[in-house]
Amino acid sequence: MTDRLADLKALFTATFQAAPRHAVRAPGRVNLIGEHTDYNDGFCLPMAIERDVLMVYAPRTDTTIRVVSAQQPGVETFDVGTSSGATIPKGVAPASRWADYIKGCAQVLRDEGHALRGMDLALTGNVPLGSGLSSSAALEVACMHALLQALGTVLPGARIATLAQRAENSYVGTNCGILDQLSSACAVAGQAMLMDCRTLALTPAPLPGGVAVVISDTGRRRGLVDSAYNERRRQCEAGAKALRVSHLRDVSLHGLWQARQAGTLDAASLRRCEHVVAENGRTQAAFACLRAGDAVALGQLMDQSHADLRDKFEVSCRELDTMVAIARGLPGCLGSRMTGAGFGGCAVSLVQSSATAAFTERLAAGYGAVYPELPIAVYVTQPAAGAGPVAL
Ligand code: ADP
Ligand code: MG
Repeated sequence: MTDRLADLKALFTATFQAAPRHAVRAPGRVNLIGEHTDYNDGFCLPMAIERDVLMVYAPRTDTTIRVVSAQQPGVETFDVGTSSGATIPKGVAPASRWADYIKGCAQVLRDEGHALRGMDLALTGNVPLGSGLSSSAALEVACMHALLQALGTVLPGARIATLAQRAENSYVGTNCGILDQLSSACAVAGQAMLMDCRTLALTPAPLPGGVAVVISDTGRRRGLVDSAYNERRRQCEAGAKALRVSHLRDVSLHGLWQARQAGTLDAASLRRCEHVVAENGRTQAAFACLRAGDAVALGQLMDQSHADLRDKFEVSCRELDTMVAIARGLPGCLGSRMTGAGFGGCAVSLVQSSATAAFTERLAAGYGAVYPELPIAVYVTQPAAGAGPVAL
């Protein structure tokens, strides 16, 4: 952190010819179980990871925001002055689009009636971009913290998360659920959290002793994810409607069995619903395993989750299935599954701590032998703290 902060301060000073005044950070996240449940008002079990977006900034006296990222070329500039009803223009050039996440946060706060001040802002992130570890949520949540802090406004983490989600939904145009932003905003160091996506209630619990969480990136970027993700969302909504509930959260396994008998749902919709209903149950069971310190049972639930995501929800891909199969065959691995929306991105495995070093090495070698053209990355992480200020 110290080196990254020093480098970031240097970037700020080189770009804006002044010293930054404040710093904030917001982490990425990994979801242990509870996939494609958030937008069904269901349960997830995420934790923040030890990778984050770090931001330094200095308020300005006007309403101009200038922002630079260590991961992107150039400085983006826009105005947050309050000509009422006006929308902050989005980036036109593809190379400017990353700043839409910042503009979206400013737009949402302005729409909420906040008279924003200008600021110069520099950021750096080590959450891999587009891997399903939520670099976008880390960026939004860090930005919300900076913009609110500059106003002297304090909001609860869950409120910051919903505002950040709105920035991504309505400004950037990605139809994500609340999982990513709520994890980044509210995570607790050393703990995973049962997340109730209906009430936004979070119940933390530590990982069982003697296990590590290993994230492995397939190197396959999630090309199809937007259209397939939106299609799955539509299918879930249609399923809920056919089953006469507002969200699939309200359907029981028995209710689904009745629907199957009555032929209420076509075969494909039934498979989608079966995954969501079972996954909600698995996620609550996984949380009970955390509380009981039962890593073996937790791993088994992760395996079942992957099988359903592959066979019933159909959001896995060859690379993820290969990664999970290799992981599962290695000593000390208790469970493994795809994590995030799917169609590429990362797998998450629960591994005995004593076996972690050999596991990561053999997983990288095994996957590399099947997909030599894809760059595998492996991260071992402890549950990290949620977003907040950082001492400069
Ligand atoms: P994920 O959230 O899974 O990493 P997304 O596609 O949702 O993937 O978000 C990735 C996008 O977020 C990047 O393409 C970029 O626009 C933006 N982003 C994330 N981190 C940074 C960063 N450090 N600097 C600039 N843009 C970033
Ligand atoms: Mg994202």
